[in-house]
Amino acid sequence: MLNELRRITHSFVQEPSLEVALATLVKDIKQCLKAECCSIYLVDKDQSTLRLKATDGLNPLSIDVTTMSFDEGLTGWVAQREEPIKVYDAKRHPRFKNFPDVQEEAFSAFLGVPIIHRRKILGVISIQQNKARFFDQDEEAFLVTLSAQLASSIANMNNRLQTSQAQDNQDEESFVLKGVSGSTGVGIGHSYLVQTDIELSDVSLKKVSQPEREKQRYFEAVESTRSDIKKMSDRMSKHLPQDALAIFDIYLQMLEAASLGNEIVTQINDGWCAVSSLKIVVERYVSEFEKMEDPYIRERAVDVKDLGRRLLKYLNNASHQQLSVPLNAIVIAEEVTASMLAEIPREQIKGLISIKGAENSHAAIMARALGIPAVMGIRDVPLLRLEDVDIIVDGYNGQVFISPNEAILEEYRHLESEDLEFAQQLKEDANEIAETVDGKRISLFINSGMGFDSEFAEQEHIEGIGLYRTEYLFMMRPRFPSEAEQQVHYQQVLGDFAGKSVTMRTLDVGGDKQLPYFPIVEENPFLGWRGIRLTLDHPEIFLVQIRAMIKANVFTSNLHIMLPMISDIGEVDEAQRLIRQAYNEVQEELKEADPGAIVPKPKVGIMLEVPSMLFQLNQLKGKVDFCSIGTNDLTQYLLAVDRNNDKVAGLYDAYHPTVLNAIKSIADMTNKFDIPCSVCGELAGDPGGALLLTGMGFKQLSMNTQNLLRVKWVLKKADSAQLKALADEALSCIRPDQVKYKVNRYFLKIGAAGILRAGK
Ligand code: PEP
Ligand code: MG
Repeated sequence: MLNELRRITHSFVQEPSLEVALATLVKDIKQCLKAECCSIYLVDKDQSTLRLKATDGLNPLSIDVTTMSFDEGLTGWVAQREEPIKVYDAKRHPRFKNFPDVQEEAFSAFLGVPIIHRRKILGVISIQQNKARFFDQDEEAFLVTLSAQLASSIANMNNRLQTSQAQDNQDEESFVLKGVSGSTGVGIGHSYLVQTDIELSDVSLKKVSQPEREKQRYFEAVESTRSDIKKMSDRMSKHLPQDALAIFDIYLQMLEAASLGNEIVTQINDGWCAVSSLKIVVERYVSEFEKMEDPYIRERAVDVKDLGRRLLKYLNNASHQQLSVPLNAIVIAEEVTASMLAEIPREQIKGLISIKGAENSHAAIMARALGIPAVMGIRDVPLLRLEDVDIIVDGYNGQVFISPNEAILEEYRHLESEDLEFAQQLKEDANEIAETVDGKRISLFINSGMGFDSEFAEQEHIEGIGLYRTEYLFMMRPRFPSEAEQQVHYQQVLGDFAGKSVTMRTLDVGGDKQLPYFPIVEENPFLGWRGIRLTLDHPEIFLVQIRAMIKANVFTSNLHIMLPMISDIGEVDEAQRLIRQAYNEVQEELKEADPGAIVPKPKVGIMLEVPSMLFQLNQLKGKVDFCSIGTNDLTQYLLAVDRNNDKVAGLYDAYHPTVLNAIKSIADMTNKFDIPCSVCGELAGDPGGALLLTGMGFKQLSMNTQNLLRVKWVLKKADSAQLKALADEALSCIRPDQVKYKVNRYFLKIGAAGILRAGK
């Protein structure tokens, strides 16, 4: 069963269009379950009509014609109840309705299963049989599993189809993809796919007019792959027995012209591009092999797939190397990383699309820091469909328009110019301090780490760096940076901000932040080896970083060290011990060179981002000099919602009253124990969040440079007593939307409605 399920879902997502995919699907299901009829109905755009989209068993002429509402017939009943329904003899059932066009008189047994994606009904799959009977548990389980597995692909393909229909088929290629907002704003440009490991399943078929060039590309890819395999075989010959080495010979044989090669060339001669030809041939072989009884031959499917992947890598690299970054680039990657962004000049990047991730993934935080509109978590789209197309990134609504028509472009150009106007307005009081109308001052700091922020050091209203994410420095190298390299980097930052405090956070990797040279593979990365846990296990990494920071601080004396992911007081003690050790070492070292040298002692604080710390705040007195709330992780851990998972993005909300109450209790407790406490998570840079935090009593907020002017703009219009009342009201709300309603109402009251669209 499992193999069958895998095969059917695999072949479904390969199909170029929803129509063909559904037609293949009904055939596959009918054959696999030995049913006499299988049909698929999808819900129309009106959300209340089911339309027959594919059938193997009913009258094919009724495809796209026969419709029913949810209160009609057994199929409508499945959609209405949103659960599987089995009927012994359909025609005798009170909910049966005869639709003469479909010609289903012969069938008695009925099983219908709803297709549901993100709580929304998309359609119904049904199977029918002549003989009256109940379909059994296995048949039901099979259909339910298949429906759940295919739901998101159907949703996306249907979405694309409906968009192109809505555009009167003016442009078949136009479609909209839905994700979640990563960074607000509008980006209009041309796609730039950053090379990731693309699978053949991501390829959509494309014809070309120059087969000779495609053949040449294919032959070059074969040569490169052949040489890789030979090298692998040589390397492994010392470790593997002769019979195991035979696999490399099989690979080499398959590459021969007489084997896969010939067939691929035939496809190219038929007009398909090299990549499409590879896909067609490899997938045909894989599906043939997978059907075989003999387990040895079945296993060969894996080899063909692997070979296909290797050839694809070379074909893609070749075409990728020819591509230059467009002037208005919409950067698209499986997962956007700091090094990808660093390779492209900032002014060329107009938008970002990250296939993985959600609102508070680190890729989204980077995009916001750079002021680049971004959409995250676009699922089930073959990456190569996004190659070489015009794109609009709508960072406000978390959607992406592929090959948009002129009317849509016009609308978004208008929005873009409104944004520019608003940004101009914000700049007008850029140099003023942040103060409420009744004179309460809020210290605004910046979050930094990408290395583009030295220009902000000069600005008087910026009081320093509240969070310097040192991990970016580590991510942009091919190996761990040495102590000397780190020292130079930190010295530059501390020097740029001389006279202002700089809070440098020690290496915080793990979760969705990976070092290319130190991969961490875990089942639950956000609950795993992250931040301080990793660096305490590797004191050699921690000590080198602290020593570099302390040395860099000798001339400016403005360093604060902050420890990430602290979940236990023991970690604070251990880290402080290592910091003392590093300090003593540096002092000795520098005194040797200059006995009069004075090594300033940095202040040491922690991030409050793990809920366990809420109940240990009283233990912090005397152990740390300050703390800063990381609302991104605090939200994730309090609500048990992975910040990087778009499937649960709707549940991740820092406006949740639980999160706000936790933050308020931290404010009260740290105040009681006299520990300075600021906020450096994304909530501090959200204009509404900043109002609430100020109302709760925070006097120091740290945020990305893009948000700083927006936050200041609203704070300057607000009144501190009113903010306290607003925060009190928010704390007694039950749901995040109630909090947002109150905050938005306050924006309107103080004449800051402009911020409502500008968002994050
Ligand atoms: C946080 O968790 O709120 C935070 C500031 O740290 P990061 O987003 O880097 O995990
Ligand atoms: Mg964090």
